[in-house]
Amino acid sequence: MDLLLMGPPGAGKGTQGVRLAEALGIPKFATGDLLREAVRLGTPLGLKAKAVMEAGHLVSDEIILGIMREQLARPEAGRGVLFDGVVRTIPQAEGLAALLAESDRQLDRVLFLDVSDAEILDRLAKRRTLESRADDDPRAVVVRLRAYREQTAPVIAWYEQHGSVTRIAAVGTVDQVATRVRAALGMP
Ligand code: AMP
Repeated sequence: MDLLLMGPPGAGKGTQGVRLAEALGIPKFATGDLLREAVRLGTPLGLKAKAVMEAGHLVSDEIILGIMREQLARPEAGRGVLFDGVVRTIPQAEGLAALLAESDRQLDRVLFLDVSDAEILDRLAKRRTLESRADDDPRAVVVRLRAYREQTAPVIAWYEQHGSVTRIAAVGTVDQVATRVRAALGMP
């Protein structure tokens, strides 16, 4: 099963993704985590991405498509993948569809974690004190939200035309949201 989790920054994709991937027994792959790790290790990818990420902008489609290809080539990706925040532009959505089609696969479902702007700002401010992520800085948050609205939100409409999107209210406790996510997939 190949699933994509989408939603604005702070929607809880990472938290819900870990639980869901474990429940489904498939690997979770998050471009944000892989990029942060590359920055931490100072790899050529990390050096390219660092300033862009810290300012809150999106990394280029070319870089993201390269990461997608690498991840999909891993043996553990053969039985399906939970893609967490991996697709943020329409060219990335087209690229992922083409990569999956190379092994006769397609996204089975897109889960959209929906949350209001006021809630996002509140969550990111809290996360900043806990995780000290440079891109949770208030100025970077404004840029990230703009990138989300201008480049990522249209991808949800694109998926609505091309496949099946399930909108999940990502408010309440982590457990409440996890219950809605499982229900959306018909899981107990
Ligand atoms: P995240 O932790 O998912 O919010 O990602 C952190 C940062 O990594 C984002 O603000 C972007 O700079 C970059 N990033 C992660 N995934 C993508 C993607 N699919 N396309 C472009 N940039 C990405």
